[in-house]
This record gives sequence, C-alpha cells and structure tokens, in this order.
Amino acid sequence: MQIKRIKILLCFLMVFFGWHTIEAQELNIVTTLPSLASITKSIGGEHVEVYSITRGVQDAHYIEAKPSYMVKLNRADLLIYSGLELEIGWLPLLIQGARNHDVTPGASGHLNASLAISTSNILEKPRGEVDRSMGDVHPAGNPHYLLNPYYGIKVAEQITDKLIELDPSHMDVYDSNFEQFRTELQKKITEFETEAAILKGIELVCYHVHWSYLLNWLDIKAAGYVELRPGIPPTPRHKKEITALMKRKNLKIVIISSWKDPTKAEEVADVAEAKLLILPGEVNAMPGADSYIEWLDYMVRNLVDVAIEVEPETTQRQRDRQREQKRGTK
Ligand SMILES: [Zn+2]
Repeated sequence: MQIKRIKILLCFLMVFFGWHTIEAQELNIVTTLPSLASITKSIGGEHVEVYSITRGVQDAHYIEAKPSYMVKLNRADLLIYSGLELEIGWLPLLIQGARNHDVTPGASGHLNASLAISTSNILEKPRGEVDRSMGDVHPAGNPHYLLNPYYGIKVAEQITDKLIELDPSHMDVYDSNFEQFRTELQKKITEFETEAAILKGIELVCYHVHWSYLLNWLDIKAAGYVELRPGIPPTPRHKKEITALMKRKNLKIVIISSWKDPTKAEEVADVAEAKLLILPGEVNAMPGADSYIEWLDYMVRNLVDVAIEVEPETTQRQRDRQREQKRGTK
C-alpha cells in the first residue's frame, strides 16, 4: 500500500513537472536591432523570449562587443540580425566569443534578415571598390531596409518560417500571429500612404544617408546631405554649399536621426531658414516609437506635420490634385 502510494505520487510529480518544463520552454532569441526584436515578438508571442543587443538610442553601426552580449548569445537558440554588413564591426566578435554552435553562420539558429529582401531592391550598392576615403559607406548597400514597411512584412514572414522550423509544435500560433501582424501592418500602410500623399515630390536635406528606404517609399527626394561624406562631419565649405543649395531650391526640411549630434544640422537649418526634424533612427529611439508599427507611424506623422507647416503651398497643391483625381475616378 505504502509503495503504491509513493508510485502514484511519483507519477503525479513527473507529469506535473514534465508538463511544466515543456510549457515554460520558450525559444531564446537574440536580435541585433529593436525593430527586429519587435517584429519577432509579434510573431513569437508568449513562446519566445527576445533580447535586443542594441537599444533604440544607440547607433547600431558602432557598438562595443561587450562580454555581457556574448553571455546572451551563448544561451540563445536563435540570432536574428540585419545583415548587409550593418553589424560587421561587432557581431562576428560576439559570435566567436559566445561559443554557441547553434548561432554560428550556417547553423539553424543563425538568421540574416536581409536575405528576405531581393538583392535588386537593396539601395545604394556601391559600384566598384570601397575605401575609407569614401567615409562610412555601406559596402554591401544600405542596410536600413526596415524603414520600408513592405520589407517589414517580408522579414516577418522569414522570421515566422524560422520559428516554425525551430519549434514546429507551435506552428499554428506562429502562422496566425503572422497573419495578424501582416493584416495590421497592411492596414497601417494604406493609412500612411494616404496621409503621406501630400509629401509626394517634396525635396529635403538629410544629415546622413540613413533614410533612403523611407524616402523612396514615400516618394520624397533627398536633395543633399549635411555630412561631407557618410560618417564624416561637414567642412565649413560643405556647409556653405549645402545652405546655398537649400536656398536656391527653397528646401525647408532637414532630417536627422536621434542618435546623431544635431549641432551641425541645426546650424545649416538655421542659415537656410529651414526646420530640423529629429526622427527616431530605430524602434525605441524616442518616446512614442515603441514598436515597429509605432516607429513607422511616428516618422510618417512627423514628416507630414512638418511639411504642412513649412511647405504649405506644395502640400496644398498635392491635396488639390488628389481631390481632382478622386473626382475623376468617380
Ligand atoms: Zn547606416
């Protein structure tokens, strides 16, 4: 009798703890960017634990390969990174130091998100040799593709496939989370495009080559850059040239990402009587940009607001044109 009771108790304990460990088993995921972390959380939901190495306030080009990041990677089932050499300065060191075969190149827990974007859609691929004199150019092309929400959908789809591969038992959850994410983002894209239609054809100046995918998507043109070359601050002469260009073309907006020192951009905007717009360079870079969709929302809303303020004629003209087009289609 005694033995039987112990057996029952043992069975109960095994079932309870066995069940418990399976339930608590989440995929441990490390991403390099908060935007990738946000998308991954949307798909993985409660079945993933996500840690982003960079915080939104940091410029992911320049991160120190800290041992604490290696510890995170050592315990990870999956590493998701931007690719296109964005993390070239630090990620290889972290992978090496992590001593975790699962996240090394070629292993199943190593996901280069840029592979979701077809090469022909990568912007600013340098022609010919790249050397230091050209500044901090992106040698494999511009890696900030998540600024275009259509690529956000592609990346989300790729992450969904990877989660299903690593954790097939939750396939239905991942699939339905993806559908929900895609539907929500697609709805927002339609709203963004309607709202931002008044920006079509506007020209502005950027501090740095960072925004190309956003500008391309919204049909806005960067007429010039405050930096002399990518990553290299302007000389007094370049500042004069860029302000002269702005005056000549009547450019009223300068944009800069939140992690850059705004001093030089401010000076240029002042002289040219233009408005400096600070935008979050990543998810979590500024309050109100707390998820991938909120980040996009923040950028579109602020661009529209500033354009209505400083480009009232152009935006009004676009509005009239849209109204006429609507009438035409009725
Ligand atoms: Zn960059």
